[in-house]
Amino acid sequence: MTTLLFETALLPDGWANNVAITIDADGAIAQVEKDAEIKGSTVVTGAALPGMPNLHSHAFQRAIAGFGEVSGPEQAGAEPDSFWSWRKIMYGFLASMNPEDVQTIATKLYVDMLKAGYTTVGEFHYLHHDINGSAFADRAEMSNRVIGAAENAGIGITQLPVLYNYSGFGGQPANDGQRRFLNDADGFMDIVSSLHKAHADSFNVRVGIAPHSLRAATPELLNEVISALNSIDSASPIHIHIAEQTKEVDDCLAWSNKRPVEWLLDNQDVNERWCLIHATHLVDSETDQLAASGAVAGLCPVTEANLGDGLFPARRFMDKGGVIGIGSDSHISVNMKEELRWLEYGQRLFSHERAVLSGGADRSTGRNLYDAALAGGTQACGRPIGALKVGNRADIIVLDCNASPLYGRAGDGILDAWMFACDTNPVRDVYVGGKQVVSGGTHSLDEMAEADFQQVLSRLMDA
Ligand SMILES: [Zn+2]
Repeated sequence: MTTLLFETALLPDGWANNVAITIDADGAIAQVEKDAEIKGSTVVTGAALPGMPNLHSHAFQRAIAGFGEVSGPEQAGAEPDSFWSWRKIMYGFLASMNPEDVQTIATKLYVDMLKAGYTTVGEFHYLHHDINGSAFADRAEMSNRVIGAAENAGIGITQLPVLYNYSGFGGQPANDGQRRFLNDADGFMDIVSSLHKAHADSFNVRVGIAPHSLRAATPELLNEVISALNSIDSASPIHIHIAEQTKEVDDCLAWSNKRPVEWLLDNQDVNERWCLIHATHLVDSETDQLAASGAVAGLCPVTEANLGDGLFPARRFMDKGGVIGIGSDSHISVNMKEELRWLEYGQRLFSHERAVLSGGADRSTGRNLYDAALAGGTQACGRPIGALKVGNRADIIVLDCNASPLYGRAGDGILDAWMFACDTNPVRDVYVGGKQVVSGGTHSLDEMAEADFQQVLSRLMDA
């Protein structure tokens, strides 16, 4: 048992001072005491918060961040730059990434996530096969690399192997750029069951699944895999990309006469176990039904802005009791504050109002956003995290409040100052399962992870 004493901390029932958190040998919180005796103990100064889950990540895409910002050539009849032109660049890069490259990129990314205050990642992992599209002898090779990166960096992970077998609605054949993603039900369940077996006793690893989208999995495939999954773990998380693009909505209507979220709600038992990533394009009835389902809306505001996806109706959804969480998705930015800030700013720009997602009169927007993203991220990752309480993992971040704009702030004001006024990163210390992985803003792998990442990037750019 070790005990950490925090000057101030956000607990499930609010802010408290002199908080002693006792952590057991497995990294779980064994006791929480407010107004603890500080005599003889070293107090961790600053503000302690539950670490934030980053519920949606495609780790390998970090290598591409910033490469898709040049507009395409001007040609008669050319489509404007969009998600689809960005996807072409992404497919080009991953054509030459080997398992070591993916592990190197993921390690660097996860170190950066920890420094940003994310203590768990939901890895939506679809790069399963070798460069030529053939399966590795161990079909879970690539997933193992990503989990290895998480373990090395010290971040908790919910690994979500992606079910991907088609290129469009109604089972259209996959294209060459997608050959590394493809699995039938048996091949896919090989990966899932081997990961379940390997990590059954792991405190920091959970395994779920992620049907890529209604474009990439037919209804039959979806049913077959979910029923196989239920025989292994009927509570494990299910994530799916759902309505990121208007083209996706149009194609779904043409195929089924229903919009994607409408189709999913009508054809699957969508409940707390589900996380719908980019439920961006919704009509009001879908928004209300999705909120009532208890599923998480997995929002990635910075990536969605970067890709020109559209704006999720967050106000209506949250007013109806909908659960949200955040993810950094393409990793164009790895910055929790940016995700929450742009979630709120998108709504402000649209509604011409302020404090749109504060959750009611006289409430802090920063606090409400932080609480909401903690709850939804925890639910989506299916792990005991997201609150500093007995039984949960001791995943704790500490903000340095000695410099402006956090200086002199207290309670929810700290979160408001961080979300809306900070241009630097105030995350000073990070603990995952009670183990300190970031100290004074640095991670022990900083230099090595950066050097290795640069080497891989140089090679990929030359490829
Ligand atoms: Zn995604």
